[in-house]
Amino acid sequence: MVFADIILPLAQPVYTFAVDEGLHVVPGTAVAVQFGPHKIYTGLVWRVHDRRPDARRIKTVSRTLYDRPLLSPAQMRFWEWTADYYMCTLGEVMRAALPALMKPSGDTEEAFAEEEFRPRTEPFALLADGLRDERALDELFERLARRAPKQYEALLEIASAGPEGRMPDGPVACRLLHADRTILRTLARKGHIRLVELPRDDVRTARCAFAPPEPTPVQSEALAAVRREFAKRKPVLLHGVTGSGKTEIYIHLIAETLARGGDVLMLVPEIALTAQLIDRMERIFGSRVTPYHSKLPARKRTESYLRLTRSEGGEFVIGTRSALFLPLERLQLVVVDEEHDPSYKQSDPAPRYHARDCAVMLAHLTGSRIVLGSATPSLETWLHAESGKYGKAVLAERYGAGRPPQILLSDTLRAAKRGERRAHFNKQLLDRIGAALAGGRQVMLFQNRRGFSPYVECSACGWTARCPHCNVTLALHKSAGRLICHYCGHSESVPDRCPACRTADLSPMGFGTEKIEQEIARLFPEARVARLDRDSAASERAFRETIARFERGETDILVGTQMITKGFDFGGVSLVGILNADNLVNAPDFRAAERAFQLITQVAGRAGRRDDLGEAVIQTSDPTNPVIRQAAAGDYEAMARTQLAERAEFFYPPYARLTALTLRHRDPAVLRDAARHLGERLRGRFGRRLLGPIAPPVDRIRGEYLAGLLLKIESGASTARAREILKDELKAFAALPQFKSVTVVCNVDPQ
Ligand code: ADP
Ligand code: ZN
Ligand code: ZN
Repeated sequence: MVFADIILPLAQPVYTFAVDEGLHVVPGTAVAVQFGPHKIYTGLVWRVHDRRPDARRIKTVSRTLYDRPLLSPAQMRFWEWTADYYMCTLGEVMRAALPALMKPSGDTEEAFAEEEFRPRTEPFALLADGLRDERALDELFERLARRAPKQYEALLEIASAGPEGRMPDGPVACRLLHADRTILRTLARKGHIRLVELPRDDVRTARCAFAPPEPTPVQSEALAAVRREFAKRKPVLLHGVTGSGKTEIYIHLIAETLARGGDVLMLVPEIALTAQLIDRMERIFGSRVTPYHSKLPARKRTESYLRLTRSEGGEFVIGTRSALFLPLERLQLVVVDEEHDPSYKQSDPAPRYHARDCAVMLAHLTGSRIVLGSATPSLETWLHAESGKYGKAVLAERYGAGRPPQILLSDTLRAAKRGERRAHFNKQLLDRIGAALAGGRQVMLFQNRRGFSPYVECSACGWTARCPHCNVTLALHKSAGRLICHYCGHSESVPDRCPACRTADLSPMGFGTEKIEQEIARLFPEARVARLDRDSAASERAFRETIARFERGETDILVGTQMITKGFDFGGVSLVGILNADNLVNAPDFRAAERAFQLITQVAGRAGRRDDLGEAVIQTSDPTNPVIRQAAAGDYEAMARTQLAERAEFFYPPYARLTALTLRHRDPAVLRDAARHLGERLRGRFGRRLLGPIAPPVDRIRGEYLAGLLLKIESGASTARAREILKDELKAFAALPQFKSVTVVCNVDPQ
């Protein structure tokens, strides 16, 4: 009799099933199994063996899904590491790893009617047969150049597309052409080109239509440094200022790997923000590029996953964190761009994994090379590079004539005293905005809060609007006319009088992007102003449109949150303003200073990308703040030194590893007891390494009270042993009847 240990996409342990005779299963095979009284789930075979489990009744696997295993042995080891390190089940890893359509569940077998996933096709443009004749082509060129320049350009692009494209019958993916569809259709109607649908995979000709540029001497040196460190099998930190050509370095490494038939995985923090990067990569690598992220239709993700299980190598995936789990069997190179970005960490639900750290482990398990790129590396990565555990390559200057932007600190208190402040802007910033607009340039304004104002207050009695479910104030969203909770989404209308004292004098306090947008539009009535944040970019389309309009120069001033800071290359921007740097450095988080430095550098880096006229104005009430000064001076090393000294003194990462436990319950008394009890238990095992119970900054969310415990393990100590103890204790705690209803969430390496 054959048995299989099977994982299900649930927070459940591995279960053993019997396997029908004649059914061929190997580790990694997907199967449909019944679990619970009625429900049928997709499961993954983890191990096949002949040991009969003790259970009375054993269910049987009767059906396999797909015609080949979904996971390679290396991936299975990676899943196991992820589940172990982040203290979750393999089922939870499966939930994050497989696209939704690949893990159907249902009450009947119907849900498993296997979908056909056809190979992807896309339109290609081919030069018409008649134009193989050089003379005919020349004549046509001459005619079109005079009468229809756009058609001429498109045809020229098709005819000259790269080495393979020079053969008159080399097709070019329409997606890669600069010309728009109407022009291509016109050319097709006139018989100059043919438009054909071809499977993306069969036609790889467009892949090198545009050769990567020659590296500069500085870039060549960095490239050589990366290769030297690769030879020593070390992960490599590529520390390069914004615009220095980090992406160019990646491109060279990627091209080499693909040429060898290896697979490449490039991770980016948030794909919506990197449309430009994907375009750039597709121009070079054409149909080799497989984008993979949560905004893609579920069907597309499934197609990509299944296609990769059949791949012969030479794949290039650009994706967000879940792309880590794609079946790239010949993985040879991993690139983690903007490695310091906090969005690499999934905080909810489990697995609460950090994609950069997972990528390093994945590279280790698969024997791949890995590059971590950033202008402002995380202190964790920096310390590894300093200690020699990681290699390092440096690009210290911008490409071309571009100099880093001039950064000016503008004191808000002083400006207010001198009467040089209007609304939330210092005169210094306003003058520069005026000058930029007069010069036909664009401006970006950054504020890390959305909405109109973070709270409203009664001027008579001090009452503030608070969320009924969370212990926070409600933010005013003026255009929606609502007060909204940023934690649970609760929204209510704005009262016309104070509910406490009936005075009709409620004032919005503080400011968010919406208010900045309104104020700047009033101060510069002739400027075209747009806003980009989670409210204004509710849909992918709205987001893209706002970006595209700004790119085309149809917007003069773009106001936004973090969303405007990443990955964009807008040529027209000469000035960026940071409206309030204080709330960046004062955030209640041991990483606040590091993050503030990263954000300020990133925002400032948006200015003057095409020339050296870039300027950034940072408004702060504390211009002597060391981190703000270091950011203004662009002195990363000074920041790293100061911050590392502080981290060492207070024993925080990278000198300690943190695991945060959060307990939740509706009844504050039960919660308090539970937190105290668990705290004592853990203190008994970990001693002073255990801190708490601590009240988190927001101690009630969605009607549940929260308490925290924090475990600090010194780097270098065995975290495996600590996890084992922690797992045991949590299990014992969960078995206590009086705390059965208490939720405990375990977050390893919280960000
Ligand atoms: P980073 O990724 O460090 O921000 P990029 O690779 O995007 O930098 O380079 C910044 C700009 O400079 C891009 O527009 C890029 O095309 C250009 N560039 C960089 N290196 C070269 C090169 N060697 N030849 C031509 N253009 C380059
Ligand atoms: Zn009042
Ligand atoms: Zn709330």
